[in-house]
Amino acid sequence: MKSDIRVCSAWRGRHERPVYTLSDSCPDCGADAINSAPAPVDPEDSYGGYRRALKRADRE
Ligand SMILES: [Zn+2]
Repeated sequence: MKSDIRVCSAWRGRHERPVYTLSDSCPDCGADAINSAPAPVDPEDSYGGYRRALKRADRE
């Protein structure tokens, strides 16, 4: 049996680091807790996009 550890689905906007929990919701902010194994979005990719957008805005 795999672990049931979940991670706050909104941690990127609400916490400095992933908040893990065994329940269905984040103990900290109450957002949905999602299975931490399969990432729905590649975090590196979205972060890279965000950084590119910032750089672009800086030049204009
Ligand atoms: Zn949270």
